[in-house]
Amino acid sequence: TKISNHLPTAELQALDAAHHVHPFTTQTELAERGARVITGAQGCWLTDSEGHSILDAMAGLWCVNIGYGRTELAEVAARQMTELPYYNTFFMTTHAPVIALSKKLAELAPEGLNKVMFASSGSEANDTNIRLVRTYWAEKGKPEKQTIISRWNAYHGSSVGSGSLGGMKGMHMQGGLPIPGIHHIDQPDWWSEGGDMSPEDFGLERAQQLEKAILELGEENVAAFIAEPVQGAGGVIVPPETYWPEIQRICDKYEILLIADEVICGFGRTGHWFGSQAVGIRPDIMTIAKGLSSGYQPIGGSILSDEVAEVIGATEFNHGYTYSGHPVASAVALENLRILDEEGVVETFGSVTAPYLKEKFEGLARHPMVGEAKIVGGMGSIALTPDAESRAKFKAPGGTVGYMVRERCFANNLVMRHVGDRMIISPPLVISKEEIDTLIERAWTSLDEAM
Ligand code: PLP
Repeated sequence: TKISNHLPTAELQALDAAHHVHPFTTQTELAERGARVITGAQGCWLTDSEGHSILDAMAGLWCVNIGYGRTELAEVAARQMTELPYYNTFFMTTHAPVIALSKKLAELAPEGLNKVMFASSGSEANDTNIRLVRTYWAEKGKPEKQTIISRWNAYHGSSVGSGSLGGMKGMHMQGGLPIPGIHHIDQPDWWSEGGDMSPEDFGLERAQQLEKAILELGEENVAAFIAEPVQGAGGVIVPPETYWPEIQRICDKYEILLIADEVICGFGRTGHWFGSQAVGIRPDIMTIAKGLSSGYQPIGGSILSDEVAEVIGATEFNHGYTYSGHPVASAVALENLRILDEEGVVETFGSVTAPYLKEKFEGLARHPMVGEAKIVGGMGSIALTPDAESRAKFKAPGGTVGYMVRERCFANNLVMRHVGDRMIISPPLVISKEEIDTLIERAWTSLDEAM
């Protein structure tokens, strides 16, 4: 039989569980419950095989910034597939889509970041970054500058390199991560770890852990510091305002390359084109993916400062992927950026939608189960707690309550994600005020039901 959405849901679920190994999923649970089968999407809404209309407050995996159903992107893909479906960018060849995309990215990126090395995902791009910063220092005559400092609870991808950069202990426990030469410091999560300190003092203390680590490891051994401007998959940890200026000062003082992982924060997610602009930093390298194509095609990359590009450009950097600068992915990403830019999607989101979303989302802090409710542009999280005053944790193992709330949201046709006992949103940037109201109503109801 042809497998299509016309088959009964139970049959699709059984076939899925029989043959498809899902990422970050317990397969036995999947076999028992069956995956929700998504059949279509438009704007901020998903449709499932049982006819439910589901508000996607996660934009897929934080990536469908432009919203679902933009046929222009499909048309561009079809045209490009007909004209030149594939060619590589190794060995002195190129093509118009990758040239146009690189130029557009140089225009959009902060000043001084003008060259792009492409990949197909954020994980691949961060793997590139590991080799790139080490090669950079070797080319500058400092080959011992190899160690990269990252943060606990960071997410930089799932490959061996990017999973090592990340600070997810659950990932490190499986498959022999991290690789040597990666050092982790603590995250600036004031709500969970700030104790009696003020957020300002705590932000400084956490940033100064970077300086301590550099001094311990030896300045001459440290290549780079990598971080998400606002930590995403770790729970949308919004850093205190004192944090990033201190990090920038330390990177400058010790000549440490700063890699901003913009895979989530980029392309309007924070209300600015890049998260680096939202937190006021000057990265040497930015990792990009997700919103680059709004998820319509797999594509990622590293945007390099002129200085980094010049040093790397002086040698043959023996690195690249078959699909680096893929013409169809490049053409689709370019069309996505054109729409985000020319239709003013990023501009309108930052100036009109994000302030409204902030007011409504932070209102969830009035719910008795919610402590901190914080949002930067379109990435927000609420901390679930039995007692907001004391920032207490639930007695049940961490994540149990978050999981329960997520299940209630799912039953109420709202996709919110849970990370431990935090609930997260990251909706498409095209979300309307009415849809924001619906999101908040459904979240409130789901919290009530989980109490
Ligand atoms: N970096 C960050 C900040 C991410 O959030 C992610 C994915 O969620 C990645 C890198 C990895 O990107 P990908 O899943 O495209 O490999």
